[in-house]
Amino acid sequence: MTGLENEIAAAARAQGFVLVGFTALRRLPREEFYSRWLADGRHGEMAYLARDPERRFDPRGLDARLRSVISLGFPYQAPAPSRVVDWRGEMRGRIASYALGEDYHDRVMALARSVAADLERLRPHALARLYVDTGPVFEREWAAEASLGWFGKNTNLLNRTHGSYFFLAEIFTDLELGGAPAPYGDFCGTCRRCIDLCPTGALEGGYVMESRRCISYLTIELRGAIAPELRPHLGNWIFGCDICQEVCPWNEEGRNQPSELEPYLPDLLMLDDEGFRARFRNSAIKRTKRRGLLRNVAVALGNTGNPDAVPVLAQALRREPEPLVRAHAAWALGRLGGDAAMRALRKASAIEADPAAAAEIAAALSLRSR
Ligand code: SF4
Ligand code: SF4
Repeated sequence: MTGLENEIAAAARAQGFVLVGFTALRRLPREEFYSRWLADGRHGEMAYLARDPERRFDPRGLDARLRSVISLGFPYQAPAPSRVVDWRGEMRGRIASYALGEDYHDRVMALARSVAADLERLRPHALARLYVDTGPVFEREWAAEASLGWFGKNTNLLNRTHGSYFFLAEIFTDLELGGAPAPYGDFCGTCRRCIDLCPTGALEGGYVMESRRCISYLTIELRGAIAPELRPHLGNWIFGCDICQEVCPWNEEGRNQPSELEPYLPDLLMLDDEGFRARFRNSAIKRTKRRGLLRNVAVALGNTGNPDAVPVLAQALRREPEPLVRAHAAWALGRLGGDAAMRALRKASAIEADPAAAAEIAAALSLRSR
């Protein structure tokens, strides 16, 4: 590293970034891989990923003065492996660990801003443009180019010291930084734990993400109904999924399980608009909006197999204003079965006005009467 790069790295470490790398801007090399992934429709409804391909592959299109990018990695708390399988019967959902606490966009952006301010102190008038999941930038591609890690078979960027539990931030600048590219290497070896333990088969043979099957996509990005055949595989995940990271041997150190990541599902299903806003105002979870989160909560309650979930689902079927949530509550009641669930479904079928929710109620009733 040059003297300036060392000074920037020290400033970044002082802000808590554990990974720092520099890359001279060039056209990203995995264009063909990514174009094929898009052409295959594997991005599902995430249309924004297909926008602005030119600037994504070559950020000099954002601003012709840019010369290099500083890639930063900030660690976050990792979940405990013991929770991977042992959830049935409990009415607790699971939230991906990156969503714990204050929205990471705000937290990491504030820290990256401090690094950019130090950069401007070191080189007055230097241009600095920041991105934390906030623009048409392939963050992980740049981090890989900066040798912060390799793309694992779970498609995450993996670092041998820090695993994959870190957020990325980039500072694009007109300074000349970054020497010759130094590839990180692939340390997955013969391991295929992420592939074998993904509940939905979203990783297929590894290194490629079929988003349309991934729980993270289904619970966060997908706006409409979740395909019935995938719902049982969601288990109790209600916002994202950590499984392919939890099982990765490179993430074995320093885990614990903050209880906020396992919220009590009936409480969530009863949240009204105001309650949702109050609870998730500063959290990344607000991305799903209330209707998306409660849709996921209904599915998770159905997957618990716990008859104690019936009353709260029945109440949602009666009182919930969002048809999408009622529809998924109906599915969950059908999955749980039992007299009380069937009574709630029959009552609801007499009054349901929304065609999609009515179809879900009818499907749940016919499933149980077969
Ligand atoms: Fe599979 Fe979950 Fe990983 Fe998605 S996040 S690929 S569903 S293990
Ligand atoms: Fe690679 Fe194994 Fe980690 Fe998957 S679980 S990313 S195969 S090391």
